[in-house]
Amino acid sequence: MSQPSAHPNLRVGIDLGGTKIAGIVLDGEAEVRAERRVDTPENGYNATLEAIIDLVMALEAEVGASGLPLGVGTPGSVVAGTGRLRNANSQCLNGRALGADLEAALSRPVRLANDADCLTLSEARDGAAAAHRNVFGVILGTGVGGGVVVDKQLITGRNGLAGEWGHVCLPWPSAAETRQPPRCWCGLDSCLEAWISGPGMTADHVRRGGYDIPARAIVERAEAGERLAGATLKAWLQRVARAMAMIVNILDPDVIVVGGGLSQIRWLYSEVPKIWAQHAFAEHIDTPLVAAIHGDASGVRGAARLWPLDSGS
Ligand SMILES: [Zn+2]
Repeated sequence: MSQPSAHPNLRVGIDLGGTKIAGIVLDGEAEVRAERRVDTPENGYNATLEAIIDLVMALEAEVGASGLPLGVGTPGSVVAGTGRLRNANSQCLNGRALGADLEAALSRPVRLANDADCLTLSEARDGAAAAHRNVFGVILGTGVGGGVVVDKQLITGRNGLAGEWGHVCLPWPSAAETRQPPRCWCGLDSCLEAWISGPGMTADHVRRGGYDIPARAIVERAEAGERLAGATLKAWLQRVARAMAMIVNILDPDVIVVGGGLSQIRWLYSEVPKIWAQHAFAEHIDTPLVAAIHGDASGVRGAARLWPLDSGS
């Protein structure tokens, strides 16, 4: 097992994505000492496990350390009690005890959290939400998720579900939205992920008679004045505003920070705050809505921070 560390401020963070696995060695609060990225293997769970192990060893070799605390950000959620993953869109992970398997292979304790939790933790510690106590973070990308950090600490919840925003129903649906709820890959109808993820925006555009094009292209066409794309973008902003009004009503965070590919849509920050007060239970909502400042790196920085600084032994 691990010996008392000669490097008490070093921690390894791994962000396990669908196409890439990113890893860093974080020194103290914010200094990145080593950084590597590999492709996520396409041939199943064991290959993914081996790729993570190799990446950790390579990062440690680069900084001349071993046995460092390891935090891993993954898609899906970690089932409380069993440590097994569920609802990961990388299907080979589901039902697997990734944390326990890594602990056995690397002879050290491992902490696991979902990617939205890691993003929120990173942005709350030294990102766009650093000045705030009660932080809700969301990922708007291929998937949709959320995380809650209070006083710089991640709230996971009794069932490991805190902030699981992507798989709740779209709130205050219109008659048309109720008639034709999209089926989510998780098996439920009308999940936020099915409406406001990138693929959700594309599917909505196709339902209106538009082309099957990525969300980024829809936004470009809307900005160029194309009416149909404009209608799709407007509906998307409306739905995001309703979904965020629900968060304001329940948690009333000091800030909402947005990561993921769709966080680059600038209309989000100008338009959503004009709409959400219609649905929140107050006449005026002044919650700041801001973009993540660490971008893609937020996941891996948050994963390293699943270990507090005094845990390096
Ligand atoms: Zn769902």
